[in-house]
Amino acid sequence: MSEEPQYTRVLLKVSGEALMGEGQYGIDVATVDRIASEVKDALSLGVEVCMVIGGGNIFRGLSGAADGMDRASADYMGMLATIMNALAMQNGLERLGVPTRVLSAIPMTSVCEPYIRRRAIRHMEKARVVIFAAGTGNPFFTTDTAAALRAAEMNCTAPFALF
Ligand code: UDP
Repeated sequence: MSEEPQYTRVLLKVSGEALMGEGQYGIDVATVDRIASEVKDALSLGVEVCMVIGGGNIFRGLSGAADGMDRASADYMGMLATIMNALAMQNGLERLGVPTRVLSAIPMTSVCEPYIRRRAIRHMEKARVVIFAAGTGNPFFTTDTAAALRAAEMNCTAPFALF
C-alpha cells in the first residue's frame, strides 16, 4: 500500500556547516552525496523539493567584519560562498540523475539562473530540485531569513533545516 506524502512541497535549508562532514572547513563530497540521496528519496515519493544552502563553511560576513572588513562587502563574500555550495549540491544531485537548477538572488548568468519566482515554481512542477543561492541577495541578512522567505514565496507546506 503506497501512502500519500504528508507534504507536497518542502524547502530544505542546509547550512554550510552541514556540508563539512567531519572536516573543519569547505565541502565534504561524501556528505553532499548523502544529502543528495535523501533528497532523491523525497522526490521519489512525489514531493517537490527546493533548497536554501548556507555558506558558513566558507565565509561568514560577521567574522569578516570583525576582522576589519566593511560589513556589506563581507556579507557579499558570504553570499558568493553560498553559490559555491549550491553548485556542489547541484553536482551531487546530478550525479544521482536528479535534474536540478540553481537560482541565484545575485545574478550570475554564466553560472546559474537568476532568481525568478515563477520560474522556480515551474521547475519544481517539472520535478526538478531548485537550489536557491546567494541568500536574499541583501547584506545584513542570513540564509535562515532566505529559507523563510523562499518557503513562503514557493507556498511550501513545510520548511526543514539541516544544521
Ligand atoms: N548572507 C547575507 N545575506 C543573505 C544570506 C547570507 O549577507 O541573505 C551572508 C552573511 O554574511 C552570512 C553568509 O552569507 O554570514 C553565509 O550565510 P549563513 O551564515 O546564513 O550560512 P550558514 O550559517 O547557513 O552556513
